[in-house]
Amino acid sequence: MKRAALYVRVSTQEQKNSGLSVDSQIDALEKYCDEQGYTVAGVYNDAGISARKKYTKRPALLQLLEDCKKHEIDIILFTRLDRWFRAVAGYYEVQSVLDACKVPWRAIWEDYETETSQGIFKVNIMLSVAQAEADRDSEKIRSVMEFKRQNKEYIGGKVPVGYRVEGKKIVKDEKTCGMIEDMFEHYFQTFSKWGTADYILSKYPDFIRTRNRIVKIMSSPAYHGEMYGVKNYCEPYITEEQAQRIKEVSSQKSWVDCKRRIYIFSGLIRCPICGYKFSGRTMAKKEKRYKVYQCPRSAAKKHKTYTRSEPKLETYMLNHIEEKIQSDVLRAEGRVKAAGNDVEKRKKKLSSELGRINKMFEKGRITEEYYDERYEAISNELKELSQTAATEELETKKKIQSRFPDGWKDMYMQLDEQGKQVFWKSIVKEIKISPNEFVEDIIFF
Ligand SMILES: [Zn+2]
Repeated sequence: MKRAALYVRVSTQEQKNSGLSVDSQIDALEKYCDEQGYTVAGVYNDAGISARKKYTKRPALLQLLEDCKKHEIDIILFTRLDRWFRAVAGYYEVQSVLDACKVPWRAIWEDYETETSQGIFKVNIMLSVAQAEADRDSEKIRSVMEFKRQNKEYIGGKVPVGYRVEGKKIVKDEKTCGMIEDMFEHYFQTFSKWGTADYILSKYPDFIRTRNRIVKIMSSPAYHGEMYGVKNYCEPYITEEQAQRIKEVSSQKSWVDCKRRIYIFSGLIRCPICGYKFSGRTMAKKEKRYKVYQCPRSAAKKHKTYTRSEPKLETYMLNHIEEKIQSDVLRAEGRVKAAGNDVEKRKKKLSSELGRINKMFEKGRITEEYYDERYEAISNELKELSQTAATEELETKKKIQSRFPDGWKDMYMQLDEQGKQVFWKSIVKEIKISPNEFVEDIIFF
């Protein structure tokens, strides 16, 4: 006698529909078993669970699979296919288990079963149609969301501190916007997230509870206007460039020693002898400790030790960096000009060359083919000789120069150690020293 497992399911929504109730499903299935002469191996009831839910969230179904694996079941019966599955993805996962233990199923109110190959074929087609319909439904939901997104309406989810929902829109919250403005202002003065967090926490104890939280929200895209992955969604507190800057600064590794001392020029100085990067340490002098930079390999390599003290180097940099970038800009401008001159020279050459081949062509000394070929070669050459490289370099240098606005030294003096470190690291690629010169050259990015 065949042992039949009866699977019944009804979602919370469907329970209102009496024809679909769990009891009527069980009644029908039991009657069917009587008629066919099957014994009921068990009733597996997933009441209140949607068939779209992942099958792993359907406990009765999972139990049924376990019992199939134990070979306690010969056939699974349910009333309709949609009681069993609605989504194709999960269906195939379950079906592969059933295939492995060779347990077929049958829908008693419909002409669906997996006992025959025609039956399996029909089921597969049926399920693809069902999936296509489901996709259309979720597409409908998506397009409503898309409409809201396009209209920059609030879709849901938590709104960051500094904003609130008004009607359908996300607007700045007048209760907290002062704090957020203050937060960014403080950050861009110090470039320290943790310092800013401390500052905000002490000044506004009521809105945000922890430092971690403040540090976290600082990188929220909403503050530069982006929400749900769409730009210009809400009124920004900072520009995109500023947001980018926060990201850059946070990604820069902070260089500290084991006593958590910060060395503002670490990683920027190279040993003039072995090329290794100088590391920071402290030195005592006249009962005072101060920071210095030295080659960490000078002892091992037995080469002369060069030392640069941080305070002296800082003074040097503050006094020379502006004039250095200025001269870099001038040099870059010269290169752009030179490249321009080159282009002029080539143009002259090109036109005289053109005149020459024109004459030759007129006199029939060269073919039209050869003429075209030469012409193209010359114009291509001219295109390649562009000013781009030099112009780009000039742009970069000018950008760095703009990092030194009037009064920048006063602002620099207000930075904490970490802020100073970030300042130098974001501008300078290398500080070149030599045995004879305190600083030989400053290389910018
Ligand atoms: Zn060295």
